[in-house]
Amino acid sequence: MAYGNVKERDYYEVLGVSKSATNDELKRAYRKLALKYHPDKNPGDKEAERKFKEASNAYEVLSNPEKRKMYDLKGHAGLEDMGFHGFESSSDIFSSFGDIFGDIFGKRFHRERAGPQRGSDLRYDMTVSFIDAALGCEKQLKLTKNESCEACKGTGARNGASTVCSQCNGTGNISRQQKPAGGFFTISNPCSNCNGSGRKIDNPCNNCNGEGRASKTRSLSVKIPAGIKNGSTLRLSGQGEAGIRSGGAGDLYICVRIASHPYFERRGLDIQYDAKVSFTKAALGGEIEVPTLRGKATLKIPRCSQSNQTLRMTGQGVKAKDGRKGNQLVKIIIDIPKKLSARQEELLKELDTLDGG
Ligand SMILES: [Zn+2]
Ligand SMILES: [Zn+2]
Repeated sequence: MAYGNVKERDYYEVLGVSKSATNDELKRAYRKLALKYHPDKNPGDKEAERKFKEASNAYEVLSNPEKRKMYDLKGHAGLEDMGFHGFESSSDIFSSFGDIFGDIFGKRFHRERAGPQRGSDLRYDMTVSFIDAALGCEKQLKLTKNESCEACKGTGARNGASTVCSQCNGTGNISRQQKPAGGFFTISNPCSNCNGSGRKIDNPCNNCNGEGRASKTRSLSVKIPAGIKNGSTLRLSGQGEAGIRSGGAGDLYICVRIASHPYFERRGLDIQYDAKVSFTKAALGGEIEVPTLRGKATLKIPRCSQSNQTLRMTGQGVKAKDGRKGNQLVKIIIDIPKKLSARQEELLKELDTLDGG
C-alpha cells in the first residue's frame, strides 16, 4: 500500500523556469503548459492529464510564498509535512485557478462541475494497542464503501453502451437565451436528461442502477508504522469512495488512537516504566526483572539507588522507521514491606542504632 505521492519531478523543471522566477514568469509558464495539456484539448489522454496535474501542482506551490519557501528548503517531503498532497482531479484545479482559466477557456470550469465527480474521502477511526503502536504492525480492516461497479466497469450501462444525449447533444449543458429589458444573455444549466454527463444510458446496469458504482465491503491491510503518535492520521490515496461518472476515487484517512497500557507510558520514543524495588535491594544493589516492549529483561540496580531515581535501558524504547531509537526509562519506587517478621524487625532495629538514630 502506498502512502502519499510517487516520486515527483522538480517543480521548477516542470514549469521550465529558473529558481528565481517571478510570479509573472510562473504564471506565463503555467498558462502555456495548461493550454497544451488541458483536458479539453486532449480528451482521454492520460499522459496529458498527468502533465496537466503536474504543472498545476508546481504552479500551486511556487506561486504561494509559504509553500515555495518550504519547497526550496525541504523539497517534496516538506510539502507533505505541510499537508499539501497536490490536486486530485481536474475539477479541483479549475475551482482553484478559475481566474487564470477564465480568460483562456471562458466558462469552461462551470461545466466541469456537472461532469465526472471525484469520490468522497472517507475517515476510519482505529484504536491500536500500546505495544502495536510502539512496535508497528499490520492491521486488517473491513470497509463498506461505494466502489466502481464491476458489472458495467463504472459506466452505469448494462452492456457498456451509452448514446449521446439528445437533449444537449452531448455537451451536458442546456443553454437558454433570455431577453430581459436591456439585451440578450444566455444562461447555461446542467442538462437534466443526462445529469450533465452528455451521455444517455438506454439500458441501466441492474447491479448499480446506472450510477456506475455500487456498495461493497472490502478488506484492507494497513501498515501502522512503529512509533506512530496518538491522534496521527494515515492517508491511503485512492482508497476512498469511487467517483461518479468515471471521476477519480477519494482518499481514505485512518485516524489512529493508541490505547493506554497498564504500566507503560510513551514519552516520544522513550518508554516510561515504574519499578518497585525493595529498600534492601536499592541499598545493597542487585538485579530485578522488568517487562519491556519486546519481553522480559534483567535490569541491574546499582548500590545505594535512591527513590525516584531513573535508570536507562538503552535502545529498549521505540525504534522508528528513520532509524532513531528510544530508551526504556525505569523509575525506582522504593518498596517498604507492609509487614515485618520478628527477625527482620530485630535486624532493622540494629541497623537503626548503627545509623545513629
Ligand atoms: Zn453497474
Ligand atoms: Zn444531456
